[in-house]
Amino acid sequence: MLLLFFVLSFVLITNTITSLHKVYLGLLTLLLVWVMARFGLHAAVDTGQGLYYGAAAYALLAMIGAGALLFAMQLAQRARRPRHQLYIGAPGVLIAAAALLNPGGLFLSGSGDAGAWTYGAGHWVLLAALAGSGVYGLYMLLAASEPANPRLRRQIRWALSGLACGVPLLLAGLALETLGSGGEEEAMTNAGLSLLVLGLTGAVHRHKEFSVVDIAQQDVIDSMDTGVLVLDEHDVVLEVNKAFRPYIDVRVGDPLDIEAFLASLRIQKGGGDFLAGYRAALPQRAQLEAEAGRDGSLSVVIYAAPIFDQYRTKIGRIVTLQDVSELRRLISVAEHTNQRLQERNRALIRMQDELFQANQKLEQMAITDSLTGCYNRRYLMRHLERDMLERTRLQVPFAVLLFDLDLFKAVNDRHGHLVGDDVICATAEAVRAVLRPTDLLARFGGEEFTVYLPNTNATQTHMLAERLRAAVAANRIPLGSGGETVTITISMGVLKVPEVCMPEGTEVKSYLRELFAQADAALYRAKNEGRNRIVYAQSRTL
Ligand code: GH3
Ligand code: MG
Ligand code: MG
Repeated sequence: MLLLFFVLSFVLITNTITSLHKVYLGLLTLLLVWVMARFGLHAAVDTGQGLYYGAAAYALLAMIGAGALLFAMQLAQRARRPRHQLYIGAPGVLIAAAALLNPGGLFLSGSGDAGAWTYGAGHWVLLAALAGSGVYGLYMLLAASEPANPRLRRQIRWALSGLACGVPLLLAGLALETLGSGGEEEAMTNAGLSLLVLGLTGAVHRHKEFSVVDIAQQDVIDSMDTGVLVLDEHDVVLEVNKAFRPYIDVRVGDPLDIEAFLASLRIQKGGGDFLAGYRAALPQRAQLEAEAGRDGSLSVVIYAAPIFDQYRTKIGRIVTLQDVSELRRLISVAEHTNQRLQERNRALIRMQDELFQANQKLEQMAITDSLTGCYNRRYLMRHLERDMLERTRLQVPFAVLLFDLDLFKAVNDRHGHLVGDDVICATAEAVRAVLRPTDLLARFGGEEFTVYLPNTNATQTHMLAERLRAAVAANRIPLGSGGETVTITISMGVLKVPEVCMPEGTEVKSYLRELFAQADAALYRAKNEGRNRIVYAQSRTL
């Protein structure tokens, strides 16, 4: 008993608890209590006490059988196949319950003298169940033997030895104990028990796999987002973490069929190169991009790289898998947004263009006379204001012509306002045809026009003014489609300015006002002198 306590404490101190350890410790505790119950049975002073300890011993023994089976299952599952469920321990639990009740002395009955016990059918059923558990445990461990991991192999061997040697001895001891009462049978039971405990202890004790560092490493690998698959030189899986499992159905110890794995993916980029790189003996990395998942909704990037030891011998390879679905989704959203932004940008540029055109049209409209298409008075004055300031510096001659249609009221009266409009337009057209590109024609108001002749000396002005007058007089304006025409003449006041002479402090607007007053006076004189003529203003201070 002391030995069992010692083993229990020792294991607790030196090992990190895993589920296998838990089963082991549970089993060890059951064994310990069972030994105590057996001791109680043998040392009972009366039948009642004996039966009490006996029931407990049987129940514990049944549980020990179930526990041993669970231990073997745990160990077998570490090496994968075969897989079992927890319910394999159910018969043991049922028998334990039956033993506690011991109905009608099914397991144990006695006459009253301590030690004189009669063993019922339950006793033999329990021994048979224990034997079955032992055999099944052995079968599980044998079926799972030869895993790739050498540590696991060692563990399974320890457990196999413990079960194979310990269980038969234990059972034989227990069976023989019912026949005789000598100490040899009990010694046999104890020897079986010891062998079983030794085997199980060997299976859990001091194997690096259970060290804190290894468990921590496993935890870290399992909590990584990146899938990790480690293979040995024969492509047998040594490690596969949780992140890789949704993409591949392999366990530690399975050989990896890389082509089958690749076939399960929808490769987007680098498929052929990946296999070539994967198989190459050179220390090179292979990479591919693929769609995975049932509906291909996951995007993954897979890398494979060989692992070399210190002698540059290839000892395996590592395959990693990264789920880049979120990244792809973000890129696609960014691209979509970018596209929409570009479209909006294009629409904005289009709108800007249209606005510019509309603005230009508006600007044009603002400076154009709607009837004749000439510049209007506003534009003429703005232009002259700018030009006069420039001219002050340049000192070049220019001229301003002011002309008015003669007796135009009569045209309106005789032919109507619409014909009057046509006559105004046709006259403007005739004038425009004579002018040079740099000259500026503006409708001054009503049927009165202004012509600005920049950089024009007196001779040129005389010539142009006369050509204008003659062109208008010769212009036959058709009256509808009847072939009838109408002619009109103009009277013109002309002001020739050899150079701008604006005294310091003079406002350009008042200068222009003076300029037009003189031209207007000349026009007035032209009207008075009989119309269809040109009168040149006598430039006074200009
Ligand atoms: P004068 O030789 O003295 O200039 O005689 P006139 O008949 O031309 O007299 P005045 O210049 O004073 O009259 C201008 C007339 O022109 C008055 C107005 O009814 C007419 N008129 C002004 N603007 C327009 C216009 O846009 N269209 C038409 N049809 N007639 C206009
Ligand atoms: Mg007139
Ligand atoms: Mg007039």
